[in-house]
Amino acid sequence: MNHVPVTDPAVPATCTEEGLTEGRHCSACGIILTPQKKVEKKAHTEVTDPAVPATWTKQGLTEGSHCSVCKTVIKAQQTVKALGHNWGEWTVTKEATYESAGLKRRVCTHDSSHVETQEIPKLTKSGFSDVQDPKNPYYKAIYWAADTGITKGYSDGTFGINKPCTRGEMIMFLWRYVGKPAPKTVSKSPFRDVAKTHAFYKAILWASQKGITKGYSDGTFGINRNVSRGECMMFLWRLKGKPVPKAVSVSPFRDVPKSHVFYNAILWGYQKKVTTGYTSGDKKGTFGINENCTRGQIVTFLYRAK
Ligand SMILES: [Zn+2]
Ligand SMILES: [Zn+2]
Ligand SMILES: [Zn+2]
Repeated sequence: MNHVPVTDPAVPATCTEEGLTEGRHCSACGIILTPQKKVEKKAHTEVTDPAVPATWTKQGLTEGSHCSVCKTVIKAQQTVKALGHNWGEWTVTKEATYESAGLKRRVCTHDSSHVETQEIPKLTKSGFSDVQDPKNPYYKAIYWAADTGITKGYSDGTFGINKPCTRGEMIMFLWRYVGKPAPKTVSKSPFRDVAKTHAFYKAILWASQKGITKGYSDGTFGINRNVSRGECMMFLWRLKGKPVPKAVSVSPFRDVPKSHVFYNAILWGYQKKVTTGYTSGDKKGTFGINENCTRGQIVTFLYRAK
């Protein structure tokens, strides 16, 4: 019997699969003449994956390795957390306004090229736009006055903290301050510049009946005239029933002589801590008796006199 030998070619082993040696079989009868033998898998070709150090901003990796031939990971790399920033304080670079957002930035102490910026949202119109800082000395009084309905501020969202106030408005504030008591009905307005149809009529009539104001000798109340700080204290003092202040040898204010018609009212206001007058600057030691009383000052007087 003559076999007809045929070569079974060798299969090289790789690092993932076994191989075979060369063999032979007979193509006529199929008999295996030289059996093929398994060849063990080859070892992986290990390559190091170098460690990547973490930075302040980016995570790093531990050292690992893989096979350069089959890409099998032999030693997995582990992630290493970023070291993180050490941020300094925020600094406002652009103040937020009601119209536009602001900006703030902070710098990392590790590296001054690490900078983070953030938008500061626009200011919102809650409260009065000109009275936002709680450290404002008028802040409490103004929001108290708004809450109690003494004055609501202007339609543009401001309180008008530094605006002067008319005598009419001042009486209106006082009237609301005591709960809008109804005046006695009269046939004729006591003041020729205050029509019965005027929005302040009731308040001014009440004030006149209560002896808070007598108006001017020409028969007017001066409804649209700015109220002075002296008048303001006088109105308030009369509202409180003209309490007699403690006698003192020297007036607390150099612009308020003891002979002044407002002296008792202002001395009472001073002793009651309704006013301190000016305590610094050129005006130190004065009350500012003839100065316009601003809206901020008026509500503060009312607040302190509660
Ligand atoms: Zn054969
Ligand atoms: Zn491999
Ligand atoms: Zn940093």
